[in-house]
Amino acid sequence: MNHGLRTFVLLVAGVVAGACADSGRATSHLEAENQALRRDADRLREDLDVQRAESERLRRELAAERAATATLPVAPPALRTDVPVPIPPAPRANAPQPAPSERLAVSAQCGGTTQKGARCKRMTKSPNGLCYQHGGN
Ligand SMILES: [Zn+2]
Repeated sequence: MNHGLRTFVLLVAGVVAGACADSGRATSHLEAENQALRRDADRLREDLDVQRAESERLRRELAAERAATATLPVAPPALRTDVPVPIPPAPRANAPQPAPSERLAVSAQCGGTTQKGARCKRMTKSPNGLCYQHGGN
């Protein structure tokens, strides 16, 4: 989270610098905007300090928790709070397999195109993904 805020501050600074470099007109307006953005950046820096303190506190809590519970070596605490990526369930060898007739019953939309240029709406069980009118079976 600290990293994200820092990136944002740098981004704001970059936008200001880019805007000033690209345009020779309305510089006074841009200067006012620049100052406003600088104030925003200062405010964000203060927020960053708060976040940093919070992060440090959480880090200590995490370390204490790990020391209390884990027997594994303590890894550096992750600072990212991204949404965890869903992991598709791995196919299990002992999972019940569908009966052959069920597997053959699985059908997909035909990959062919109609004369009007639209996607064919027929469903097909053909291995090539095409209905009987588009070369499947
Ligand atoms: Zn078709």
